[in-house]
Amino acid sequence: MRQYELIDRVLSYKPDADQDILKKAYVFGTKMHGRQLRASGDPYFSHPIEVAGILADLKLDTTSVVCALLHDTIEDTSATIHDINVNFGTEVAKLVDGVTKLTLLESNLEGSKQAENFRKLLLASASDIRILLIKLADRLHNMRTLGYIKDQDKRKRISIETLDIYAPLAGRIGMQEIKEELEDLSFSYIEPKIRDIITERLKVSKKKKSKIVQLIDKELQRVLIDNSIAFEVSGRVKKPYSVWKKLEVQQKSLEQLSDIFGFRVCVNSITECYQVLGILHGEWRAIPGRFKDYISTPKKNGYQSIHTTLMGPENQRVEVQIRTYKMNDMCERGLAAHWVYKDQDDAGNDYLASIEWINDLVDILNRDGATEEFLENTKLELFHDQIYAFTPKGTLVALPRNATALDFAYAVHTDLGNFCSSVRINGANKPRRTVLENGDEVEIVKSKTPVALESLQEFVKTGKAKSAIIRSLREKKSHNHRLIGKAIIKSVFSSHRKKPTRDILERSFGPLNVVSLVTLYELVGGGSASGSDVYDLVFPNNKRKIRKKNYIEENISIPIHGLYSDLPAKFLKDTFLVPGDKIVGIIIPDKGITIFPVESEKLLKYEKFPESWIKLTWKKEIEFTFVARIIVKLINEVGVLNSITSTIADYGGNISNLILNEKDSDFYNLIIDINVNDNKHISGIVKSLEGLPVLENVKRFIG
Ligand code: MN
Repeated sequence: MRQYELIDRVLSYKPDADQDILKKAYVFGTKMHGRQLRASGDPYFSHPIEVAGILADLKLDTTSVVCALLHDTIEDTSATIHDINVNFGTEVAKLVDGVTKLTLLESNLEGSKQAENFRKLLLASASDIRILLIKLADRLHNMRTLGYIKDQDKRKRISIETLDIYAPLAGRIGMQEIKEELEDLSFSYIEPKIRDIITERLKVSKKKKSKIVQLIDKELQRVLIDNSIAFEVSGRVKKPYSVWKKLEVQQKSLEQLSDIFGFRVCVNSITECYQVLGILHGEWRAIPGRFKDYISTPKKNGYQSIHTTLMGPENQRVEVQIRTYKMNDMCERGLAAHWVYKDQDDAGNDYLASIEWINDLVDILNRDGATEEFLENTKLELFHDQIYAFTPKGTLVALPRNATALDFAYAVHTDLGNFCSSVRINGANKPRRTVLENGDEVEIVKSKTPVALESLQEFVKTGKAKSAIIRSLREKKSHNHRLIGKAIIKSVFSSHRKKPTRDILERSFGPLNVVSLVTLYELVGGGSASGSDVYDLVFPNNKRKIRKKNYIEENISIPIHGLYSDLPAKFLKDTFLVPGDKIVGIIIPDKGITIFPVESEKLLKYEKFPESWIKLTWKKEIEFTFVARIIVKLINEVGVLNSITSTIADYGGNISNLILNEKDSDFYNLIIDINVNDNKHISGIVKSLEGLPVLENVKRFIG
């Protein structure tokens, strides 16, 4: 195509188009591509010109046509984006840059099977929809000239890619004509023999039916003219590829397909569409179940038309599509037409603003998003809320916008996230929290041991990564609980000179509602049950026998001087007093005497009643042991429990209970109840524990 032909084509639909910039781009492109040749032997520049011609056929704006002329200059010539910017301005430079980037992504994807993701990547990368339209036109011209490429495998690969990626993309944005042409060209390289057979059969069928087709055509013309409706009737033969798909899907023979031939009736208004429908249904019998009204209920990509199948002369089925001219144009040119009509409806508004194009696209794609094809791969969020990044092996990973390199790691595999120590993005070392961009290649550097997960939570944006981290933290915690629970049970049992064997412990499963040793350990380690709970459950009788040596309020008198023998007396609950602790008694009417520690804050309310106070002292000789309670803050290391329990045992204390009271993941508060002789005994134990380096601190608890 020559320069003036292209310009004439643009002027035909846009009389005020800027001819100078078109000429300038033509000259720039010719100069830059110089003597480069296409596989066909044609000068290379013939390709951008044809691409520009396709865009002009779509009636796109001058900028798009200019960009089409320049679209390969950055990739294939010495021109830089700066040159384009200086000569043609920022808008053109931005678009050409966008097309170049898509071309680079394309080469990255070679051979990948992730067509759906790649389609989305293209959409997401095309910040301006015109980038996508140029890319589609580029592909269309390359497909039209694919025959010149000698390597058969390469032809096939490019055709499969076109069929997988570009044809559906064209369909998705409603460009039916381009879609069909891309499909048919691909088909001819992928299955040339099948295509030949179908083409041949179509010719034969057409011949066979041509008499009927002519008859119906004449009849259609007659009834429509009789009803004085301005119309255009066109006969329609399906493309071999769509016939082939139908045959494949419906498992039918060519002869059985009723819609190989059809008529399309275009009229001016929607009202006339329904008038035509009424006339046709009055004239011929309609096949039940074949009537579809896509005018009142458009297809998800915006397609509008009425479809019906009539029983024609000699019982031949004929499909008829009825639509307005505008609907027809929209169907063939998709978004491009969409824009043109909007422009006409609201003259003066600059609908070329790229944001408007994207809104249209996103709108259509979102409606299309409900189709099965899309749901297969992802619950579609807005395309532009997503980005796509590559693994080093070329797998595409879809992530929400603002996702980080760490999100990427978790998206690939949970372990990859848990062991991710750093990342390389496009070959450069980057922090894990780096926000990814479309097309980034991300390599995860794994450490040998799991990384500290607590600090990672703020580095991720995706739900998947967040829940993976929380899950891993929970697992780590229950792992610790298991180890601690096991140690607690062992300590409690050994202080009773028993071994916590599996057989014995199983007796506690029922009452504690656990199903395995592991869950029992977790329960105890997590503090929901104590070691002595378990002990008491598995040795219900030993409980009393062992404690005979210990002081038990109910059946042994209190070893204290100064109690009135006629008054009942008891210790204040949960005070953990042992002989030698300073105590005082309070006479409470109707209740008797309660023994308090002298430091107890609960005594404050009796200060006004000095007559209630009685002086008490412990007896000298006491044959029982008493339970003292200590609280230990220990570093979260499992081994420390052993040194604690053995220290206590060395000092003659018997641990009667261990209760874990978790504070944070680095420290545990451990409550230890110990049977001791007196307060000297327990303070000796506390002092010896203070000497252990693994303890943060230890103190006695008196209620
Ligand atoms: Mn190109």
